[in-house]
Amino acid sequence: MTERTASPEDRLYRIAEEGLCIGCGLCQSIAGGDKVEVAMTPTGYERPVVRAPLDHDTVDRIYAACPGTRVEGLPESLCDVGTLHDDVWGAYRNMVMSHAADRNIRHASSTGGVLSALCLYLLDAKRVDFILHVKASTAYPACGEPHLSFDGVQVMEGAGSRYGPAAPLRDIADVLAREQHFAFVGKPCDISALRCYARQDARVDALCRYMLTPVCGGFMVPENMRRFLGELGIDQEDITKLRYRGFGCPGPTRIETRQGQVVEKNYLDFWGEDESSWSLPFRCKVCPDGIGEAADVAAADSWPGGSPTWEGQIGDEGTNAIVVRTAAGSELVEAAANAGYLTTGDDVSPREMDGFQPHQVTKKRTVWARHAGLRAAGRLVPETERLRIRELALERGYAANADQARGTRARVRDGKTTEPRPVRLESP
Ligand SMILES: Cc1cc2nc3c(=O)[nH]c(=O)nc-3n(C[C@H](O)[C@H](O)[C@H](O)COP(=O)(O)OP(=O)(O)OC[C@H]3O[C@@H](n4cnc5c(N)ncnc54)[C@H](O)[C@@H]3O)c2cc1C
Ligand code: SF4
Ligand code: SF4
Repeated sequence: MTERTASPEDRLYRIAEEGLCIGCGLCQSIAGGDKVEVAMTPTGYERPVVRAPLDHDTVDRIYAACPGTRVEGLPESLCDVGTLHDDVWGAYRNMVMSHAADRNIRHASSTGGVLSALCLYLLDAKRVDFILHVKASTAYPACGEPHLSFDGVQVMEGAGSRYGPAAPLRDIADVLAREQHFAFVGKPCDISALRCYARQDARVDALCRYMLTPVCGGFMVPENMRRFLGELGIDQEDITKLRYRGFGCPGPTRIETRQGQVVEKNYLDFWGEDESSWSLPFRCKVCPDGIGEAADVAAADSWPGGSPTWEGQIGDEGTNAIVVRTAAGSELVEAAANAGYLTTGDDVSPREMDGFQPHQVTKKRTVWARHAGLRAAGRLVPETERLRIRELALERGYAANADQARGTRARVRDGKTTEPRPVRLESP
């Protein structure tokens, strides 16, 4: 937590200026929308913009839950005798191959449709009143926006991965004020934020019955997204629809413009064939938890080696490798399978999961050293709990860690991790 020597506003802005804001939206709900608005900025990221004077207590509460400043694994209260532990994959009960039983849902979804199928089951079985997740943004179709789904059609509007900024927790204060039961689907950083916020607002645990997440390697840097579109001759302002994947596994990245142009590119055209070339926000490069440690269920891709191949995509119907972490998640997966919403297959061992997610394993092992580099540069460092990043880093030895720390320090020195103070971009 930063000292109260700076003004409350400067303390909040420091999170974004030092490249640690991921735009989850939670600070808007903590401070109130009249004081902080998580808005689109000229950088293409959604960031907090201060609208009225803040006080230090409010900023302390933001620091205690913001995923830029704090990231936590599964609460200990959700672990019991049935919980297994893996140094890389954290607390889990089982890992298993799975997909939506309904072929259309499996096809339309990002991978095998597990997250959508679980949401559909939760609504149909009346276990929750609605789902809080994201769908394509109306104002900025390359981004996501918070989406409340009360029926299956709305759930499927949100299916697919949004590889752009999204602020699912922006309106969490309003969501909680509904006093209805819900499930939350968000990225691992969003899940950690909501778990941490639960300590400040008892309604989170009372109303949010399930937290579900995609395993997440990060999203495309907006500037590079603009460049990718530019190479296709598309101006971002002309986009009316953008689907990153789905309708196959991974399915095409499909862009529609107001001039009636439709462009489809392969996932490998979009992300590149080499994961080391992925263009990611800085916060994602220092992410201590892309594997959804605080979720009830985390759903991943299951391509051996971590990426699809050109040939392998043909006819791939999509199958998730899922990490079931809690008793609630375990009961949910079983009930959804029994009710015919989900198909489950072979168990997956943690080392097989490593094979599907080599980039997650690498990040988990390197991130502590990157945090050390941030600390050495005098920057904010996310505080972490129950994520084992120090232990995993120490297994790599001094030289490898020093290399990562020096690299991060150099990035800070070269200004590559610094963002301008957020200002609101006027709506298009
Ligand atoms: C930014 C990002 C990075 C990813 N990186 C990896 C990775 O490194 N390795 C890996 O195995 N898988 C990754 N995935 C997950 C993968 O793409 C699938 O989302 C996951 O396998 C779930 O598939 P599904 O078919 O069950 O999802 P679906 O049934 O299609 O459901 C996806 C759900 O996720 C929600 N969602 C989509 N995008 C976002 C977003 N940006 N923020 C919050 N919620 C969102 C949707 O609202 C929907 O409810 C990533 C996903 C995202 C969004
Ligand atoms: S990560 Fe979320 S809570 Fe933290 S500053 Fe950004 S929008 Fe606010
Ligand atoms: S990599 Fe981490 S910080 Fe980046 S979007 Fe995914 S969970 Fe959030």
